[in-house]
Amino acid sequence: MTSLSPAVSPSPSPRPQAGPAPSWDVERVREDFPILARQVHGRPLVYLDNAASTQKPRAVIDAITGCYEGYYANVERGVHTLSQLSTTAREQARETVRRFLGAASADEIVFVRGTTEAINLVALVAASGLGVNPGDEILVSTLEHHSNLVPWQRLCEARGAHLRVAPIDDRGEIVLEDLEALLSDRTRLVAVAHVSNALGTINPIRRIVDLAHRHGALVLVDGAQAVPHLAVDVRALGCDFYAFSGHKVYGPSGIGALWGRAELLAEMPPWQGGGGMIERVTLERSTYAPPPHRFEAGTPFIEGAIALGAALDYVSALGLESIAAWEAELLRRATERLLEIPGLRLIGTASHKAAVLSFTLEGIHPHDIGTILDREGIAVRAGHHCAQPVMERFRVPATTRASFGLYNTPEEVDALADALGRVRELFG
Ligand code: PMP
Repeated sequence: MTSLSPAVSPSPSPRPQAGPAPSWDVERVREDFPILARQVHGRPLVYLDNAASTQKPRAVIDAITGCYEGYYANVERGVHTLSQLSTTAREQARETVRRFLGAASADEIVFVRGTTEAINLVALVAASGLGVNPGDEILVSTLEHHSNLVPWQRLCEARGAHLRVAPIDDRGEIVLEDLEALLSDRTRLVAVAHVSNALGTINPIRRIVDLAHRHGALVLVDGAQAVPHLAVDVRALGCDFYAFSGHKVYGPSGIGALWGRAELLAEMPPWQGGGGMIERVTLERSTYAPPPHRFEAGTPFIEGAIALGAALDYVSALGLESIAAWEAELLRRATERLLEIPGLRLIGTASHKAAVLSFTLEGIHPHDIGTILDREGIAVRAGHHCAQPVMERFRVPATTRASFGLYNTPEEVDALADALGRVRELFG
């Protein structure tokens, strides 16, 4: 990392008026997020690290405290009132996830720690449950998060299967002809992100699913970056598994969901053994509960699941279409403003993009940019974003990433652009 000097003295800059925007009462929305009122280094917080984790609305905070203060107890098989209340609340949250994803049944929703755990679950049981055998192939793309790469590498190593990788082009879009050419009757599963965390690319999942299914391959979609920004309907997408994390969709960290088609989940063996996942246990052997409980051994993150339900209700009430329209406006403005900065290179210019801007500034290390912006109260992320193959593809060691959420404002876009302009001037 290069030196941080010269020191930056934050100077207030005139902020241009926001352009015409979709009707979205962002000030009203911001009031729902207590943390947004805080200052960082004496400046109003400008939180642009939403692709890493989003902040939490009052509804989510209240759901957790409401559970602890009102009805918390361990779930399942409890005869006492609190246990039944907790169980019911958690199962209602499962139903909320079902509705949110457009799934056919709540039994298809497995609560997990997050996207990483969901993908590992499928990868770990894939060998026996889904029949991944020596010589079989798993197909991913270059833009995957490490969570959607490493578990498949491990599966391939363990089973003598082969990992194939569909390339991306200079805009950060998967080259569909190449993906199609890599599919064969040896392809057992295609694992692909709905939205890239490092580039913002929104992938054409429906088309990928059609191609994969034509070759008899299953499709797992990593939806970590999609659910906060797009209306997702797993049945319309046609995929076989869909994974997401609560903390990226205004819910708690440590909770997420795996959706899997009922007939697939039914074929899959458990991945962890313990309480809650059994039907009957003798000292010699055990039989297992049907999905989803088969995959939920041990005391779960009860209050997390309940608060995840509250988060999904919150974004659903605001409307995913309205959120997407607002964020598209932020993306348009941010792209325009950032491209005015000399030496700024946008990494990821797909035609269909979520509000994520990854960039480099010639001659300035991303970590320096991130640290200087932090002094101005602006939170961005610098690094490889757990997508090292993406960095390699664009021949950069790291990028600075500004990622927007439903509470960000055009003024915050301008604060980012103005601050980057000052960073540029400082470093010459
Ligand atoms: N996939 C993508 C596209 C992501 O952005 C992330 C989180 N950065 C993950 C998977 C992993 O999510 P988690 O850490 O919540 O398991």
